[in-house]
Amino acid sequence: MSARLLDGRDLAKEREGGLAERVNRLKSRGIVPRLVVLLGERAKEGVYFRAKERVGARVGIAVEGISVSDGEGLLKELNLLASDPAVSGIMVEAPLPPGIDPAAVRDLLPPEKDVDGGGIRSLGRLVAGAPSFPPATAAAVIALLDGYGIDPVGKDVVIIGRSLVVGRPLALLFLNRDATVTVCHSRTRDIRSKTLEADIVCVAAGSPGLLKGDMIRPGAVVVDVGTNPTPSGLVGDVDSGSVAEVAGWLSPVPGGVGPLTTVILMEHVATAAERMGG
Ligand code: NAD
Repeated sequence: MSARLLDGRDLAKEREGGLAERVNRLKSRGIVPRLVVLLGERAKEGVYFRAKERVGARVGIAVEGISVSDGEGLLKELNLLASDPAVSGIMVEAPLPPGIDPAAVRDLLPPEKDVDGGGIRSLGRLVAGAPSFPPATAAAVIALLDGYGIDPVGKDVVIIGRSLVVGRPLALLFLNRDATVTVCHSRTRDIRSKTLEADIVCVAAGSPGLLKGDMIRPGAVVVDVGTNPTPSGLVGDVDSGSVAEVAGWLSPVPGGVGPLTTVILMEHVATAAERMGG
């Protein structure tokens, strides 16, 4: 069997069209959605910030990077941004300079502007099923499956990785969609015995080649969230050669979850602006 491709690029383009229309409607009411990204000193040159700028430029959302150098300055900046009605969304892009914990900064974001959903209040709301912005990467995995008509209801899902930004929120999103979820991590004793039982396997571990073809059942859906830079380019957490022989569906890296993540983040910015604009 050769797995079919879960292509996130085409889906992202489609969503960008709808998003640009929403932004135009906001602008006709005098509202310009604006995302502020708090990041390390040189990160504005990095691929992740650049990707946000590019998508923002295409759909009409202003994207601004603010370099963070010291904790005290950051606190002042955060207070200003939180109360500024011209700022629709705020997010933190790790890594920050040594001594500033990105998770602690996320926890200070007001949930209505926490567009990447990583703060403790946003995550708590996600657990409770209250309105919140789910972390964009986790939401992108669900959007990718939805885009190909793969319904998680009643499915056995295994997630490898339990981070606050991907694995855990993804488990909650799958639970909300009535899947049965198992979360594996670096201390799980026998990952293969879990993945072999799964209808859907999502890997978000940051470990190239972690999931191999002999770890999945024939026809399984495999979503590769990993993005690992190597001298030969970006690779995921899936050994795509062997997994593609067995899986029914496989998301590529690059071109799977990544492009959708950026668009979904921007959708959250538009939603935040819509809510603030009444
Ligand atoms: P993290 O380091 O915070 O967490 C990794 C998790 O994987 C941990 O829970 C750890 O226990 C588990 N893990 C690591 N190695 C493992 C192994 N060998 N076996 C089992 N479990 C293992 O990482 P993160 O921030 O959650 O990111 C995970 C991956 O997803 C990275 O490659 C990251 O670059 C990528 N990522 C992609 C996007 C995107 O938009 N596509 C966004 C965020 C993160």
